[in-house]
Amino acid sequence: MTSSYAFPLERFCDGERFEKIRRFSNAKETPFLLIEPALVGDKYRELKENLPFATIYYAMKANPTNEILALLRELGSNFDVATRYELDQLLSLGVSPERMSFGNTIKKEADIAYFRSKGIGLFVTDSMEDVEKIARAAPGAKVFFRVLTEGSGADWPLSRKFGASPDVLLAVMLRARELGLVPWGVSFHVGSQQRDIKQWDAALSSVKGLFDRAKAEGIVLSMINLGGGLPANYIEPTQGIAEYAATITGYLHKYFGKTLPEIIIEPGRSIAADSGIIVAEIVLISKKTCDAANRWVYLDVGKFGGLIETLDEALHYPVCFTAEGPQEEVIIAGPTCDSMDILYESRKYPMPSTAAIGDRVYIFTTGAYTQSYSSVYFNGFPPLKSYILE
Ligand SMILES: *Cc1c(COP(=O)(O)O)cnc(C)c1O
Repeated sequence: MTSSYAFPLERFCDGERFEKIRRFSNAKETPFLLIEPALVGDKYRELKENLPFATIYYAMKANPTNEILALLRELGSNFDVATRYELDQLLSLGVSPERMSFGNTIKKEADIAYFRSKGIGLFVTDSMEDVEKIARAAPGAKVFFRVLTEGSGADWPLSRKFGASPDVLLAVMLRARELGLVPWGVSFHVGSQQRDIKQWDAALSSVKGLFDRAKAEGIVLSMINLGGGLPANYIEPTQGIAEYAATITGYLHKYFGKTLPEIIIEPGRSIAADSGIIVAEIVLISKKTCDAANRWVYLDVGKFGGLIETLDEALHYPVCFTAEGPQEEVIIAGPTCDSMDILYESRKYPMPSTAAIGDRVYIFTTGAYTQSYSSVYFNGFPPLKSYILE
């Protein structure tokens, strides 16, 4: 059976980089994540060059590996922090508190106090209840207000759970001022791996509306936080970072004129994803029925080992096999005893028919939301290991 698929896998499965990865991985037990920090640096610089006026707050939940955080610290990045544990990690790496924001709308009052005690002065909020906590635990802090977005067009949407409508936010803003906080700006997140750049237009239109309504109440906001959503290189093609930056810059000027407010951006995936490759092994290749159209290929890594973003087959990782020759279409699954641990079934992946049990498999673009999502000892499998490839 030959494949009719035309995935642009040559982008990943050929060339010097693939050779280097294969050589480095050779003697190491799978599965593991290989991280190339140099690529993180490239992504950071590319974004900075294309949005020179923006302050980058790396969303560290995407990949909190010390080497990545230290590199971004050296390059001048700020950090979007979601928990006290992330905060402690950054402090231990010598990042100063002025370079951090507490970007989680869901936080305990004690944790707000902890952030305050460590010197963090910038907090997100999206509710009256939360802003009351901030006012008690971090008096006088700067706050920004997260507006609810649709998340349509995103491969990994973040809709519904975060943010509130402009009406709610305006009331929260007035309360913040009354409580002695500093209403500072507005944030949003258009959904992760957002392939429709127009979503920033819609979001910025609501931000502008909120700026105007605040002004009518005597509150002058001075910051826009563009959130995350910038793309990494999975199988579905996207525009490049330069196109995203140019288009978003256009929207900013359309709504805010020539002189922009302070601009913050919080990339996670677009900074970290391309730098990672999960190296796995084929545990089993089998057929469910004698005349089955597609064989099943079971890897030693799956949904619980770091590939949870294959949920509903949301993200299509480029998967490279080492065998060569004519291809067949297969179903790919993980190694655990949970039937949800199937990676790709509705979308069949091409695999050379000569691929065999024991072969190595290379899963690209796995530097974000993989190791930090992997479960701990489900079925006894240890957490995903990682190595740094210089
Ligand atoms: C996760 C997160 C991000 C990063 O989003 P990406 O799509 O990975 O770039 C940015 N901001 C906030 C508040 C987040 O929770």
